[in-house]
Amino acid sequence: MAGAGLRAAAGCRWLRLRGDDVPGWQRATAASSCQGCGPSVPNPTCAGSSCPGAHCPGASVAYSSPDPAAQQSAAPGPAAQSPEPSAYLWSRYREMRKLVHDLLPPEVCNLLNPAAIYANNEISLGDVEVYGFDYDYTLAQYSDSLHSMIFNTAREILIQQYKYPGEIRKYDYIPDFAIRGLHYDVQKSLLMKIDAFHYVQLGTAYRGLRPVPDEEVIDLYGGTQHIPLYQMSDFYGKGPSLKQFMDIFSLPEMALLSSVVDHFLAHRLEFDQTHLYKDVSDAIRDVHVKGLMYQWIEKDMEKYILRGDETHAVLTRLVNHGKKLFLITNSPFSFVDKGMKHMVGKDWRDLFDVVIVRADKPNFFTDRRKPFRKLDESGVLQWDKINHLEKGKIYRQDHLPWELQAGFLPADTSSRPPGGGQSPGVRDRLGRGPRSCQGNLFDFLYLTGWRGSRVLYFGDHLYSDLADLMLRHGWRTGAIIPELEKEISIINTEQYMHSLTWQQALTGLLERMQTYQDEESRQVLAAWMRERQEIRSITKNLFNPRFGSIFRTFHNPTYFSRRLVRFSDLYMASLSCLLNYSVNFTFYPRRTPLQHEAPLWMDQLCTGCMKTPFLEEMVHIR
Ligand SMILES: [Mg+2]
Repeated sequence: MAGAGLRAAAGCRWLRLRGDDVPGWQRATAASSCQGCGPSVPNPTCAGSSCPGAHCPGASVAYSSPDPAAQQSAAPGPAAQSPEPSAYLWSRYREMRKLVHDLLPPEVCNLLNPAAIYANNEISLGDVEVYGFDYDYTLAQYSDSLHSMIFNTAREILIQQYKYPGEIRKYDYIPDFAIRGLHYDVQKSLLMKIDAFHYVQLGTAYRGLRPVPDEEVIDLYGGTQHIPLYQMSDFYGKGPSLKQFMDIFSLPEMALLSSVVDHFLAHRLEFDQTHLYKDVSDAIRDVHVKGLMYQWIEKDMEKYILRGDETHAVLTRLVNHGKKLFLITNSPFSFVDKGMKHMVGKDWRDLFDVVIVRADKPNFFTDRRKPFRKLDESGVLQWDKINHLEKGKIYRQDHLPWELQAGFLPADTSSRPPGGGQSPGVRDRLGRGPRSCQGNLFDFLYLTGWRGSRVLYFGDHLYSDLADLMLRHGWRTGAIIPELEKEISIINTEQYMHSLTWQQALTGLLERMQTYQDEESRQVLAAWMRERQEIRSITKNLFNPRFGSIFRTFHNPTYFSRRLVRFSDLYMASLSCLLNYSVNFTFYPRRTPLQHEAPLWMDQLCTGCMKTPFLEEMVHIR
């Protein structure tokens, strides 16, 4: 069992390395501080090496160590005692390298399961009676090959309709150019990654396709890398000058925006930054509004829709356990219907109690002014009150102008009747859809009685799908983050684990040893600082060479991560992860210690410091 060795090893060390059992040099480490417990306050029960933060060594970090001894011998040697401060610092450095090297069990790598569900908040699925879903990138996961098609089509729209230079055709889609959650400063044409404290992560600011020097970024923001609150994006990711790219469709948008800016800068063409941003956004939106993307998907669902059989398995399993299901999506019915038939079968609507299409999220969650309302056979609005939502009917938020509500236009406006049978001839004023109604979530709650923690809603957009439900309505929420699969595969590598662990250990050394301020010691500390910076860049680049992980800016959580934690109880790579858990499973978030707390929680002592869903412990219940 992958985790057992680590847990047993951790437990043994904990019991062994206490008080008088601690060898001399380890006792010194424990008495001064430890990596896991903090830098300055001695912890008599913590022997440094046994603390959760110090388990993992940095023996295989792919860079050159500044240690003079290490340059002569690759293997970490015993601590050399010397009265010289700089020699003492290097001896502590080697001790830490050895400690980290010796204490890393081989099992520590490849521990995280990309098919696991991660909890921000405790939640018991046994309490959940009603499951709600978004459609795009939630029930239906799409192939990345869509991105290059969106990029190429929007690029052509810019050339043909917006009269941009044809030379921008030389720019092809760069698949890993950007990551989700980045911010764009429209006035400065800067694409950048911002952390949870509103600081730009240095080294991650790009204008066009080229990096912007850190000094220039700092200069642009008045001598700081901090972005003031009034400039930041608002609740839904849109600020006066900064926009946040939050959905997966925005990956081709960021790539196109950067390509066009790059062209103008390279040719010294004067351009209006606001116009350019808006034109690119509109061109990307046109790909959706004109229904092109829907057509591509409908034409080859086998190619573009991923994990369809697993979505089917999730839905049928929930229904078989007595759960109620509903769907609220911004996409049009005809598109959803075709996709669901492909994934689930022609009777897919039998699984759902309520289906609402073109919902105009997030307005659907916040606007009370549009009650559900029936349309008669000729599409005329009726005055009679809606007292319940009928299973088998399709409901639609239909506030005009509907094209602007979600940026979507149906590829097929002759929407199908429930179950795909004969059309009942029910059409709205625009001649679309089966029986259509207006609506909002307040009425939805009133009509269904589905309130609070009985309801768990899944979506991929932190703002449009999850924020209001979590903050205003008290539903439980699950975020679908497809990037998690790739990020976990990187975290599982030996290189990442070694780099990160040694980086943490070195940071602890820097913090503790900064009191040595003689000239030689300062040079040692400067060398450590350079090494730390090098490792930080290495670990960042493992995820994305320009922007790193979507979850971290070096040590801090990203702005995206902060929102993820705030707006979701659970997060996972795909809906199919639910198949790995019982329908009564309770998710307990790890108690991550606050800065003033010792990480000595019993759950971590019992299961090891790396309490994660271990690969071989995952029970696959399908
Ligand atoms: Mg979606």
